[in-house]
Amino acid sequence: MFRTAVGIERVATVVIGAGHAGLAASRCLSERSIDHVVLERGEVANSWRRERWDSLRLLTPNWLNRLPGYRYDGTDPDGYMGMGEVIEFISRFAAVSGAPVRTHTAVTSLRQTDAGYHVATTTGDVHCRTVVLASGACNVPIVPAVREAVPASVRSVTPFDYRRPSELPEGGVLVVGASATGVQLADEIHRSGRPVTLSVGEHVRMPRMYRGRDVLWWMDASGVWTQRYDEVDDLTRARRLPSPQLVGTPERTTLDLNALNAIGVALVGRLSAVRDGHALFSGGLRNQFALADLKLERLLDTFDAWAHSQGRDGDMPPPERFEPTRVPQSSPLILNLRSGAIQSIVWATGFRPDYSWLDVPVIDEKGHLRHEGGAVEAPGMYALGLPVLRRRNSTFICGAGDDARDVIDHLAGYLAAPHRA
Ligand SMILES: Cc1cc2nc3c(=O)[nH]c(=O)nc-3n(C[C@H](O)[C@H](O)[C@H](O)COP(=O)(O)OP(=O)(O)OC[C@H]3O[C@@H](n4cnc5c(N)ncnc54)[C@H](O)[C@@H]3O)c2cc1C
Repeated sequence: MFRTAVGIERVATVVIGAGHAGLAASRCLSERSIDHVVLERGEVANSWRRERWDSLRLLTPNWLNRLPGYRYDGTDPDGYMGMGEVIEFISRFAAVSGAPVRTHTAVTSLRQTDAGYHVATTTGDVHCRTVVLASGACNVPIVPAVREAVPASVRSVTPFDYRRPSELPEGGVLVVGASATGVQLADEIHRSGRPVTLSVGEHVRMPRMYRGRDVLWWMDASGVWTQRYDEVDDLTRARRLPSPQLVGTPERTTLDLNALNAIGVALVGRLSAVRDGHALFSGGLRNQFALADLKLERLLDTFDAWAHSQGRDGDMPPPERFEPTRVPQSSPLILNLRSGAIQSIVWATGFRPDYSWLDVPVIDEKGHLRHEGGAVEAPGMYALGLPVLRRRNSTFICGAGDDARDVIDHLAGYLAAPHRA
């Protein structure tokens, strides 16, 4: 790293973001002695410090949380980390890797130049030849436009605003979305004594345990989770899939719709509109359930076939199948949001990245970054941590290492190419 005559710092590579993905990139860059800096608007593991609710635990078991040259080495490999432990885990990785992180340095603009990129930040400008966008896939909660029509008497909350149930008004809560976030919040809020209605669209059902092992052991060992992006049949669809209905608890409980229904959470269909103070739900609940059950069956078939092919059947209990998702006897298609029965709505409707600072035309009309396995459509620009970037597990901690190695390999080749010397 050095400074130009006008005092602008020059470095081979700038990594934007000190979450686990940016830190994995940094580790791989250091292994290749590539001069770099990691720019972070907050602190290391900022998303886990600022953007998660109090009770959240990872849904990935501890033994699975691995990063390049680093893995969980505590006393509870089958447990699931709470937020304090995740922050500690990632911060320790940054320390042992010696990652050159510059905290409290927000990137405000990234522009292309003849020689590479100009990175403007809140603490000064940096020139680099290559850049890695590791700024996260979940920077902004997605809230559907129907929110605008919700009566002012009902409080709207996103997972970024939500910390604990006691901060919600007393009374009924409508949770919209039944992916990992939606089912976890529905469960916690219901247990706080607030009646919960859960609006269910497309979802991914998973048992916590299968044949005596964590379901993510199966995902990992069978290769389903490490399937490469260029082997996935419908990549666009795979990149849009909701997160699985999983929660990490010491009891290793399954948190599917049957479990929620059993404790009294009311299930309704997909929220399709809010009109004249009424929430309108689609009637396709039975179909949504059948589809999720079918996909689960197929996934379990894949696991069983893999176990059989590996001669593992003798090591574990026989294949299991789970009760189909129970369709409620009655499920309202309409809820009056002015009656007082619903006091707040939690929008668990997904997240998206924020590229408002990116001044290079690499975003498509749907707001997605244009890239091929992490090589962005601009020379010397790379990305990490996006859904199915290079593998199905690309957004998870356990997926960052393999992706970072591949992406940094490509980046190193780019820097070494004779015309770039
Ligand atoms: C609710 C939730 C639960 C999850 N649970 C799990 C789980 O159980 N297991 C698992 O493996 N994964 C889980 N994930 C997925 C994933 O591990 C996290 O989203 C993780 O935080 C992603 O890591 P990352 O490094 O890609 O992005 P982030 O951790 O978001 O890191 C990006 C960093 O970039 C910084 N940044 C952003 N913009 C700028 C800018 N302009 N300038 C400078 N810095 C910037 C941010 O402050 C942040 O620190 C979960 C995600 C969510 C949302």
